[in-house]
Amino acid sequence: MADVLVVEDEPDIRHLIAHHLEREGYRCRAVANGAEALRAVRASVPDLIVLDLMLPEIDGLEVCRRLRGDAATATVPIIMLTAKSDEVDRIVGLELGADDYVAKPFSPKELVARVRAVLRRARPEVAGRVFREGALLLDPARHTASVSGATLALTPKEFDLLQVLMEAAGRVLTREHLLTRVWGYAHADEIESRTVDVHVRRLRAKLGDEGRRIATVKTVGYRFERAGGEG
Ligand code: CA
Repeated sequence: MADVLVVEDEPDIRHLIAHHLEREGYRCRAVANGAEALRAVRASVPDLIVLDLMLPEIDGLEVCRRLRGDAATATVPIIMLTAKSDEVDRIVGLELGADDYVAKPFSPKELVARVRAVLRRARPEVAGRVFREGALLLDPARHTASVSGATLALTPKEFDLLQVLMEAAGRVLTREHLLTRVWGYAHADEIESRTVDVHVRRLRAKLGDEGRRIATVKTVGYRFERAGGEG
């Protein structure tokens, strides 16, 4: 399930948004200002950012500009919260690159609908898709994985790792790619690539017979082998 970062300095609104997103099944991190937002994104790149325009010190536009200027975060979808309707053209325009905006006051329901729509646009290949290989089935929308109908008890990272591998079935993925996609590290070298190996080993064990589908590609990374495919 998608990881959403909420940036809003008004605690009531921040909690309201986080509450509604979590109720819809999104993983949610909430921070109160621009500096914290940039720190949170550096620690782990979210799938989408709900960004208030009016923030103390580093405002929403500046946060947006900095994210767009960094290759690691240039394409992260951003929904801007704004009370100033006259700034909308600038906010959503090419210049600043927010993907959408929601004007305050807004209904949480409307915001959740926008989040869903923007995510669907950003990752159309994933929305609603179920991955099936042999006896293994992974359903991102329901956040479940099973082998021969038996649900697997995967940690969130193991689930994300399996999803990234299955999305790219048949292709080799480097450890660095897996670190960026699963752990969200904008700078993958800051964490040991051994982390990937450890998680792959645990994931393989949980998959039982289907675990052999995750092939080690010597010195490079891993590849999910398709059932009866090119592998
Ligand atoms: Ca504000």
